[in-house]
Amino acid sequence: MNAAAENTPHDPVRDPWRGPMRAALAEAVQAPATGDVPVGAVVLDPDGAVIGRGRNEREATGDPTGHAEVLAIREAAAAVGEWRLSGCTLVVTLEPCTMCAGAIVLSRLDRVVYGAVDEKAGAAGSLWDVVRDRRLNHRPEVVAGVLADECATLLTDFFRTR
Ligand SMILES: [Zn+2]
Repeated sequence: MNAAAENTPHDPVRDPWRGPMRAALAEAVQAPATGDVPVGAVVLDPDGAVIGRGRNEREATGDPTGHAEVLAIREAAAAVGEWRLSGCTLVVTLEPCTMCAGAIVLSRLDRVVYGAVDEKAGAAGSLWDVVRDRRLNHRPEVVAGVLADECATLLTDFFRTR
């Protein structure tokens, strides 16, 4: 165990998601190559296998809906063969926006795990809480703050160098 790991307090809620969050971070770091904001996402099947990957491609493709979450959800649905992603988990480096929160609810994902909080546009607990709105008929579980510092640093570094 290295020094950094020793300093990290054991967190039974977030620790199991650190591995998948690393996979989402691996997507995120590729986004700036096309001038895109470094946000990455993966979808895990009920056994924890990655069945969808995405990173922001708004600049790369000129698609305003080209967010990491939407792309990962599309790939996962294609892999499963239907639009329902029941039992699956979306792991994303940044708190989802309203559009992505809507997509998460509509795809019937069981759970959304995110890293950094988005206080300006977050729709999973910050500015809104679309995914846990009691007026909707499907409410995924939310696990926030997994590798939050790492996810946030990626973003602040990106905007600092632009
Ligand atoms: Zn979004």
